[in-house]
Amino acid sequence: MTDTPTEPAVQFRDDVTVELIKHSASDSDVLWAARVSTAGEQSLEEITKDPERSTGLINFLMRDRHGSPFEHNSMTFFVSAPIFVFREFMRHRVGWSYNEESGRYRELQPVFYIPGEDRKLVQQGRPGKYEFVHGTPEQHKTVAEAMEASYRQSYEAYREMLEAGVAREVARATLPVGLFSSMYATCNARSLMHFLSLRTQDERARTPSFPQREIAMVAERMEAEWAALMPLTYAAYNANGRVAP
Ligand SMILES: Cc1cc2nc3c(=O)[nH]c(=O)nc-3n(C[C@H](O)[C@H](O)[C@H](O)COP(=O)(O)OP(=O)(O)OC[C@H]3O[C@@H](n4cnc5c(N)ncnc54)[C@H](O)[C@@H]3O)c2cc1C
Repeated sequence: MTDTPTEPAVQFRDDVTVELIKHSASDSDVLWAARVSTAGEQSLEEITKDPERSTGLINFLMRDRHGSPFEHNSMTFFVSAPIFVFREFMRHRVGWSYNEESGRYRELQPVFYIPGEDRKLVQQGRPGKYEFVHGTPEQHKTVAEAMEASYRQSYEAYREMLEAGVAREVARATLPVGLFSSMYATCNARSLMHFLSLRTQDERARTPSFPQREIAMVAERMEAEWAALMPLTYAAYNANGRVAP
């Protein structure tokens, strides 16, 4: 006798989910923090009074790397992505808070990652000088078939153990890093800028980075949400080489 529910259908995805769940983040937060030392409680008024000065101040803070005024804001994202993305993501320790779904307390759902047609499959060059180029249709077919077979097999083993009464925390060891997980990730603009500088590829970056495509997919979605919330800060970040202040 087991309380294991009916086996859910296996799903395959080639994308990620990123949703801005809640936020308290605007350019005026940066200006307020920067001006409070000199302008005191009048600082909020001054932001709208002189937009050009506000733009200039944000640009100055970014250029000279006065970073702390960019910390007085908050963005919480819901992210659903493969576990290998989360392993990279959670290396970002500073200015980030995480909560991830538990493989101990709930049965993991069979949603697995298979790269889409636009995902470059072939790596050329040497470490530090890698270039990724498009795979052939045959290579895509090989990837899709191999991953799908492996995912199905490991998920079947997971279910077999659950049905035999084995604890979820033990059975999950058989599941691969292509399994989707979900988390809440909360950051501020400064920690997000540092994350973006390492996890996106952008020609405006003073120091280029070469992130794995799948974490870059998450980063690009976060960047779009943040750009809409803090357009002056975002413009200054790009104008100053996408270096976190
Ligand atoms: C393209 C790429 C390839 C990578 N490859 C690998 C790899 O092969 N293996 C691997 O293990 N990791 C790898 N990483 C992860 C990388 O080493 C970092 O752990 C990750 O990018 C987080 O960066 P961070 O430490 O700057 O961020 P955070 O942890 O958010 O830290 C932010 C900043 O705080 C300061 N800081 C934080 N902690 C300390 C500390 N303990 N001491 C001093 N200063 C601190 C630093 O200035 C740091 O930049 C890779 C990252 C990228 C982008």
